[in-house]
Amino acid sequence: KITGAMAEREEKILVLVRLRPLNDKEISKNEVADWECINESSILYRNSLQERSGLPTAYSFDRVYSGDCSSKQVYEEGTKEIALSVVSGINSSIFAYGQTSSGKTYTMNAITEYTVADIYDYVQRHEERAFALKFSAMEIYNENVRDLLSTDNTPLRLMDDPEKGTIVEKLTEEKINDWNHLRKLLSICEAQRKVGETSLNEQSSRSHQILKLTIESSAREFIGKGNSSTLSASVFFIDLAGSERASQAMSAGTRLKEGCHINRSLLTLGNVIRKLSKGRQGHINYRDSKLTRILQPCLGGNARTTIICTLSPARSHVEQSRNTLLFASCAK
Ligand code: ADP
Ligand code: MG
Repeated sequence: KITGAMAEREEKILVLVRLRPLNDKEISKNEVADWECINESSILYRNSLQERSGLPTAYSFDRVYSGDCSSKQVYEEGTKEIALSVVSGINSSIFAYGQTSSGKTYTMNAITEYTVADIYDYVQRHEERAFALKFSAMEIYNENVRDLLSTDNTPLRLMDDPEKGTIVEKLTEEKINDWNHLRKLLSICEAQRKVGETSLNEQSSRSHQILKLTIESSAREFIGKGNSSTLSASVFFIDLAGSERASQAMSAGTRLKEGCHINRSLLTLGNVIRKLSKGRQGHINYRDSKLTRILQPCLGGNARTTIICTLSPARSHVEQSRNTLLFASCAK
């Protein structure tokens, strides 16, 4: 289904919404789940008290996933095709956007694992081509970029390369030997991120994690014959900071302001995505934040972008959930 939807709107961003189930803690507090997926593309807010408030009750997207849908299902139907386009030389990016505790990390970790496994499977089945896989991982916290594959916490600088565009100076780029090697690198990133979490409270809700997998390939029969052409593309997996860091500013329609406690990268990403969804005309302010500078090659142009907006069903989170859906609606 998504294939058709995607084909029609090739220039656009694919927007998926994933509702998580109530967790045990919420259940023990007698929380009520007010959101419900009523079909494959619509989500409904069911709260008789608020239905008369004039706020919208139903929202539609490319696809919505209810609390009982598995991550595998989200991957297979929602992101697989886009992520795998990297093997044919097309850049892509997959984002998780939502308030803290809505399921971003849960969703992105699973999607990254499935994608990486499928890419590896593809590589194994295409012996006629020679592949080179490279992996890097970084975190943006307070507009500082940190290497997640290094124990050195010194912020990394962004440099403008006339050919490659923005590059992150000194960022570790590991050449992948085999599937286990890649899995090991993923677990190093996860551990590194956990270190950050304990040393600096709230860090995980304020930081963006970016994983980058680059795949180069060339047909073996042409290698060394002068006429070999190499395909090269990257896929980015982005686990964004909690959207509560930007939603206030965003819903008020305010422009990016210096010095206030908004997450600059998150806000700029919102602005860039809104512009892209309107057809990519005019100037796009990629340069306003570290996140959008780094992601520029995988946003816009020929790149494919998917945003998974994660949602808590709890009544007490309704305001944040509405903000997330507002963001999702702007991205369509
Ligand atoms: P975030 O990264 O947005 O802060 P997490 O991914 O850490 O949120 O999710 C918060 C909690 O909810 C975790 O314990 C996670 O395992 C659980 N969770 C999130 N999404 C789902 C889901 N779709 N199904 C079941 N449990 C989920
Ligand atoms: Mg998280």
